[in-house]
Amino acid sequence: MTVTRFAPSPTGYLHIGGLRTALFSYLWAKNRGGKFVLRIEDTDKARNSEEATQAILKAFEWLGLEADGEITYQSQRDEIYAKYIKQLLDEGKAYKCYMSKEELTELRETQMANKQRTMYDGRYRDFSGTPPEGVAPVIRIKAPLTGEILVQDGVKGTISFQAEDILDDFVIARGDGAPTYNFVVAIDDYLMGINEVIRGDDHLSNTPKQIVVYEALGFKIPAFYHVPMIHNSSGKKLSKRDGATDVMDYKEMGYTPAALLNFLVRLGWSHGDQEIFSMQEMIELFNPKDINKSASIYNTEKLDWLNSHYIKNTPNAELAELLTAYDIVLTSHDKKEILLDALKERAKTLKELATLVEEIVTTPSSFDEKAIKKAFKGDAFDVLEAYSTKLSNADELHLPSDYHSLMEEVVSEMEIGFGKIGMPLRVALLGKMGGPNIDVIMAVIGKEETLLRIKNSIRANSLA
Ligand code: GLU
Repeated sequence: MTVTRFAPSPTGYLHIGGLRTALFSYLWAKNRGGKFVLRIEDTDKARNSEEATQAILKAFEWLGLEADGEITYQSQRDEIYAKYIKQLLDEGKAYKCYMSKEELTELRETQMANKQRTMYDGRYRDFSGTPPEGVAPVIRIKAPLTGEILVQDGVKGTISFQAEDILDDFVIARGDGAPTYNFVVAIDDYLMGINEVIRGDDHLSNTPKQIVVYEALGFKIPAFYHVPMIHNSSGKKLSKRDGATDVMDYKEMGYTPAALLNFLVRLGWSHGDQEIFSMQEMIELFNPKDINKSASIYNTEKLDWLNSHYIKNTPNAELAELLTAYDIVLTSHDKKEILLDALKERAKTLKELATLVEEIVTTPSSFDEKAIKKAFKGDAFDVLEAYSTKLSNADELHLPSDYHSLMEEVVSEMEIGFGKIGMPLRVALLGKMGGPNIDVIMAVIGKEETLLRIKNSIRANSLA
């Protein structure tokens, strides 16, 4: 069975690069009918925090990506790691190194002065003498001294690392017994049954070390897929300066989970020239073999385009629910269908949609000067008064068309162009130009509110 994983270090929020590899891992597991598991790599007590763990879990919840089974926390697995450290020591595959900090610094300085690669020189590898006193030894693994380590990568092909160039007997446990990163990752991936590792290619240099650990412990090596980074439009690694990198900021900005996931799946993966993918399609079509070999480019316009697509295609009841996050309560509004149908084509984000709704449902408290100059001239107030009278006398006003026919009556009775009523009415209702059809606005706010806004606008602007 295919088991994939996402293994974040909880040092801060979940960033979109991480989310993308999590999504790839999730999709592939689901495609294979396998499992997608979550492991929190929280061994670095100084840099990790419970808050960061919670932030990551919250982001997963928002996006509807559910991990299978219990979450594994590395911080709870010290005993397991200790057992494997002991095993390697007993088998002579790891050893204690008593080199002091000073000695290490001295070694590094000499190597640098000689323009050599800085590395451990193996002085305790076969040590059988009396260990020096007062040094808590680190544990080092016996890494191959020569030859090559091959990483079979499903994205990049076979990559050969020369043992002497990249490896030394790296530390697997510190002086205080704490195991190190590459050691625990390999152990956990094996024990958790993970057989396909999809992760960012910033981890590629760790992979040969992890392979050394797999081999020392006799563990089967998983398949690796190292995913190229996401770049900004100038070809640099995506950073905060390029916009949001925290997944939850996208929620805040009004992006929908469907749009964000659709956006991310296309960053570094494609299926012909298809752009829109439902979750079901992503699961059916995704294969890590199709991950691009080169970096992908982050493009906000594309994300906006996808988001407006998803907003347009979200049922209004659901949109009303989503807008509650912006303090817009439309869930029981009897005209929410009319309102949202008129606005959802105009919004790139839920936040924008919230603003558009807000502009309609709130009585304007000020009037745009330019709009007033343009709209409230000539007999504009008479036209508005005439319309008010018609409204007051009508009792069955429900649909936009009901309001529209009254506007037409005024236009024909007063023998004016439609603009002569449309423009002042719009400014009376919204305090400015723009917005959807006026009849829609009136149907949504209703007769009383329409009358009130017309009255307010005449009063406010005749005083001025
Ligand atoms: N914990 C690592 C990180 O957050 C990921 C480790 C891995 O995927 O192997 O970058």
